[in-house]
Amino acid sequence: LDTFKDGQGYSLDTDLTGDDWVEVVGRYKETLARETGSEFPQDPHDQLWGAIGAVFSSWMNARAATYRKLHDIPESWGTAVNVQAMVFGNMGETSATGVAFTRNPSTGESKLYGEFLINAQGEDVVAGIRTPQDITEDARKESGSDKPSMEAAMPEAFNELTRIYTLLEKHYRDMQDMEFTVEQGKLWMLQTRSGKRTAKAALRIAVELANEGLISKKDAVLRIDPASLDQLLHPTIDPGAKRDVIATGLPASPGAASGEIVFSSDEAAKLQVDGRKVILVRIETSPEDIHGMHAAEGILTTRGGMTSHAAVVARGMGKPCVSGCGAIRVDYGRGTMSIGSRTFKTGDVITIDGSLGQVLAGRMPMIEPQMSGEFGTLMGWADAVRKLGVRVNGDTPDDARTAIKFGAEGIGLCRTEHMFFEETRIRTVREMILSEDERARRAALSKLLPMQRADFVELFEIMKGMPVTIRLLDPPLHEFLPHTQAEIEEVARAMNTDPRRLADRVRELAEFNPMLGFRGCRLAIAYPEIAEMQSRAIFEAAVEAGKRTGKAVGLEVMVPLIATKAEFDLVKTRIDLTAQAVMKETGAKLNYQVGTMIELPRACLMAGDIAKTAEFFSFGTNDLTQTTYGISRDDAASFLSTYVSKGILEIDPFISVDREGVGELVKIGVARGRKTRPSLKVGICGEHGGDPASIAFCHQVGLDYVSCSPYRVPIARLAAAQAALGKAAASQA
Ligand code: PEP
Ligand code: MG
Repeated sequence: LDTFKDGQGYSLDTDLTGDDWVEVVGRYKETLARETGSEFPQDPHDQLWGAIGAVFSSWMNARAATYRKLHDIPESWGTAVNVQAMVFGNMGETSATGVAFTRNPSTGESKLYGEFLINAQGEDVVAGIRTPQDITEDARKESGSDKPSMEAAMPEAFNELTRIYTLLEKHYRDMQDMEFTVEQGKLWMLQTRSGKRTAKAALRIAVELANEGLISKKDAVLRIDPASLDQLLHPTIDPGAKRDVIATGLPASPGAASGEIVFSSDEAAKLQVDGRKVILVRIETSPEDIHGMHAAEGILTTRGGMTSHAAVVARGMGKPCVSGCGAIRVDYGRGTMSIGSRTFKTGDVITIDGSLGQVLAGRMPMIEPQMSGEFGTLMGWADAVRKLGVRVNGDTPDDARTAIKFGAEGIGLCRTEHMFFEETRIRTVREMILSEDERARRAALSKLLPMQRADFVELFEIMKGMPVTIRLLDPPLHEFLPHTQAEIEEVARAMNTDPRRLADRVRELAEFNPMLGFRGCRLAIAYPEIAEMQSRAIFEAAVEAGKRTGKAVGLEVMVPLIATKAEFDLVKTRIDLTAQAVMKETGAKLNYQVGTMIELPRACLMAGDIAKTAEFFSFGTNDLTQTTYGISRDDAASFLSTYVSKGILEIDPFISVDREGVGELVKIGVARGRKTRPSLKVGICGEHGGDPASIAFCHQVGLDYVSCSPYRVPIARLAAAQAALGKAAASQA
């Protein structure tokens, strides 16, 4: 039609006359003959075969390939063609065509929902040339349309449609998306399929279908895509809005947010006080950015993967984050970020979609999250069938409260180093790290003790007797070292030492590979007084919280990053001695377990030995993935996407557990550990604990629980239920 329009002055909203059509068809034939070298076939059989061939070959076009990739549909499935006799909706005022859903695809309400047009054929309804009419009288009253509904204009055809759609829904046991035509008063169904729907509608429909007895509660649980629950927990971009995607990175933390670009955390905090909404854009983040991350609506980094500081912290805060967006070049000095030829500066508004990893130009319309009654109902059904426990990775009272609201059954990982991110505390942690001898270190530690104790008391009180796994300090040291001269001077003042001497000490402690360096239990081995202070804070807090709540704390003390039983035993001894001391001092009796993270291949292999003294295991699959692959979790983002796009890896192994490699080590660890200690409690607290496909794996290998960031707790509950019902979840990357 576009070709025909050229110079002719036709517009799409003008109906063509009969003569016009003769000309259009003539021109199409000419074009076809010119382009293909053969005339348009006149034999109807040839025409039909041509059309059938066109449908089959559409399987391989770019649009279909993209769709398959998005929806995990294998190319090998191929497609099918239905040949149907034509009916005509454009044979006058008693004819019509329309599309309808058996339930509302946005809200899930059980009411026929759709549009139709009198004297029209299929495409007219969707082409937007004419305004379609409502199907039911109720809908017409609601829309206030002055055109009659189908119910009023064609009551017989409408009754027939009602009879058929009810039948179709009963037969397929799901909400249907149907196309129909009325030809001179008679209704013909052209097509029916399960309708696409929002997460909110999916929940309501599944719960109502189960209540109506059309499906079982188990079916209802299986019908919901766990990852789609994100839509209910975070704001999302209005699906109808046009997206100007400027770059794509990793979907590090779900939800979407718009705001002005800021390149520094101080600036973010300052603008937030003025009521401005900002997106914090950094090359990467560190503990010093916590206040900026708090102040920002969302976080964008150009480096770092799914387990980078930005990703982990943002997920914990429930803020959207896109990480590892390597196509963006940030220039802090100029206050700009550029992608190809496009440049954005401080104050320009962008939007990030942390569920898809997209960065978009401008502000986008958002849909606010809503938790409906159906959410609670379906979650209850899920809880009834799942075998895996679901805990939270949480370090703050806020995390704990959010997680309980979402149904967490305990804390699976409290990263104590995260409790030191606050500005005043970071200074004391720096003093501790940079102390040159035990005396100085103990002085710094004694300042940290009351802070830690108070934090733990609060956390224990909120968790009211549920299990709480506290991990001893495991900071990659580089995250805590002072970087700038000003920071060094500040710490030197607090330590009453010469800044130059301190700068030397910082240099001494700087590492080439901090993620594989002086961290985990290595810290407690070298400086046992750190483990001692933390244990004291934990046990004293447990005594106090126990008194306040009247419930014993489900205390589990966890040693990070061990490779040998000897390492574990050394730290465990300190913990036990401290517990005994606290019990003696307070006269209270404490129940607790001491266990370990399993995050190194050697620990998996030696699990039988380690389980002789370790009372529980928690798989730290972030580090286990890093050390199994030999790729740095902080640097992998720069090349992992290439691996995925070249098909070397199906998916980023930091997102979804690599079953063959890392998974095999997990299996070995579980089997050897339980052989020594059949009652060994085993969980997972790497980021994989919130990924549905990894959760299915955890169920298969018989873990006791998964632990994930607060906003992924509902996803984990549902995924665990689906795993128990035998669904092998596709990865939700
Ligand atoms: C892990 O390594 O999987 C883990 C949970 O610990 P972290 O991410 O703190 O290193
Ligand atoms: Mg770790």
